[in-house]
Amino acid sequence: MTARLRFHGGVGVIGSTKVEIEQDGWRVLLDMGDDIPGREGLVRGPLRFTPGSELRTRLRLGEAPAIERVYRGEAVEGTALAGGDDGRTALFITHAHLDHIGLLGWVDPAMPVYGAEETVRLIEALESVGQGLQGGRPEPRPLGEGEPVEHGPFVVERWRVDHDIPGASGYLVHTADGVVAYSGDLRMHGRHPELTERFAEKAHGAAALVMEGTTLSSDPRFTVRSEAEVDAAFETELRRTPGVVLLAAYPRDIERVTSFLAIAGRCGRTIMWPPEMAAFLRAYGVDGIVELDAAEVARNPAGFVVQVAGNRFETLLDLPLGPGSSFLHANGEPLGPFQATWELLQQWLARLQVPFTIIGTSGHATPHDLHRIVELIAPKVLYPLHTVEPTRLEPPPGTLRVLAEYGRWYEVARRSRRLTVCVDLDSTLCDTSHRHHMVLDGEERVNTDWVAYSLACADDARIEGTCRLVRMLAEHHRIVLVSSRDEQARSLTEAWLAEHDVPYDELILGDGTVGLEEFKAHHVAALIERGETVELVIDDLATLPATLAPLGIPVLTVRPPYGE
Ligand SMILES: [Zn+2]
Repeated sequence: MTARLRFHGGVGVIGSTKVEIEQDGWRVLLDMGDDIPGREGLVRGPLRFTPGSELRTRLRLGEAPAIERVYRGEAVEGTALAGGDDGRTALFITHAHLDHIGLLGWVDPAMPVYGAEETVRLIEALESVGQGLQGGRPEPRPLGEGEPVEHGPFVVERWRVDHDIPGASGYLVHTADGVVAYSGDLRMHGRHPELTERFAEKAHGAAALVMEGTTLSSDPRFTVRSEAEVDAAFETELRRTPGVVLLAAYPRDIERVTSFLAIAGRCGRTIMWPPEMAAFLRAYGVDGIVELDAAEVARNPAGFVVQVAGNRFETLLDLPLGPGSSFLHANGEPLGPFQATWELLQQWLARLQVPFTIIGTSGHATPHDLHRIVELIAPKVLYPLHTVEPTRLEPPPGTLRVLAEYGRWYEVARRSRRLTVCVDLDSTLCDTSHRHHMVLDGEERVNTDWVAYSLACADDARIEGTCRLVRMLAEHHRIVLVSSRDEQARSLTEAWLAEHDVPYDELILGDGTVGLEEFKAHHVAALIERGETVELVIDDLATLPATLAPLGIPVLTVRPPYGE
């Protein structure tokens, strides 16, 4: 009955995402991503591999997950891994970027694969023009938005999110132990922030949230352009460039391609595409796609925008380039400095005297928006994924963050366990100065009427600073008030705490028969005994740190603003 999940990629890296959820012998797989080309991994260009052997090579190198009964039988022949579909596994794809579908061609074709209708069409368009996936042709099925799929004990729903590719989606997987929400890749600054917000609403209160964190490794103040600003920058550059404009856009970002086509038209320019990109865009059904014709560009440089093929720089030499032309980078290839061709492109453009301008924007939510999304979802457990800096995704109050390890199982029902802070009352939260005269001096102290002293507590003022501190701590911690104040003062104490707005989870009072240090140490030890993690003790008793040191618990010592 227990549902559990594990991660076969995206752990400490951007991309390569693969999540597996298991219950009662049934499995849901989420994404089947590859490493981002040029970023990680040993199986990448310019090396060449025998076609059909790449999966075996990846498995040998630990660059594809060794999961039983997922891959095509022939692809894992000769390895220790059993291939073929087990009839109890289904794969759900968030979107058609390679770091989410790169290994999809190796999946046994008998296994059901689902994705958005646009995702299915993108994969089919790429296959139809010979730009398909390694391994073999997958046959994903379109899954309607919000349409529940029953798969064994699971119910799976797909909900759209905003990302820089059509059909991008997140998933909700209903298990026996609650919902596992998986963000896929998403953002709030694109054309459809309302989709990401709606996904967050649908995922609200999930037992587990698997959340992308691509931008966490950037500056936390990292901001981005909106897509409207990208469009505006494109238009401005087209209008102010006297010669030919070179473009590096990403063809799979169909909405941006469509928008750029319209803007270019308004500016009296035609966008020309390299043959393979033109073939893909036409196959997807984009109208107005014109293939590159260098002679025509040479006759009228100001009439064209030329999309550049990321690895065919010599074609640039056929174009009328120079200081009057410009290169606009809008998230196309080379994708970034992590790709070897990035630096090479800069060198080519420098030699050809073409100015280079970045006008694109991230497909991924900013760190600020990532936190906003997690707060909206407020999951019980948060698993940051698809990031090199998972520790920078701070969980909101009440959410436990787990930094997952590759391949390790985690129970979906894993509950957040709050840490405990123990806080004293007298001279820590309560100003006892008005009843100090009740404590007898010197050797007479033992004869003090401690019950009367305790019962005088109702008139205490509050020590504002520590009360405020406890209110702040209570957002994330269990507050246990531990005071040797007499038990007979309990209702007076409760009334005082309510009146002064001091939050707490438990109130432990004494009977005055044991020494103060022993009393505190006894109760802290008892809390630990029953399984609580006591993280801190706040108390005015100067000798307490030494008493609690053997328990390994730090004490924050309070000096009240009066002599004791
Ligand atoms: Zn993506």
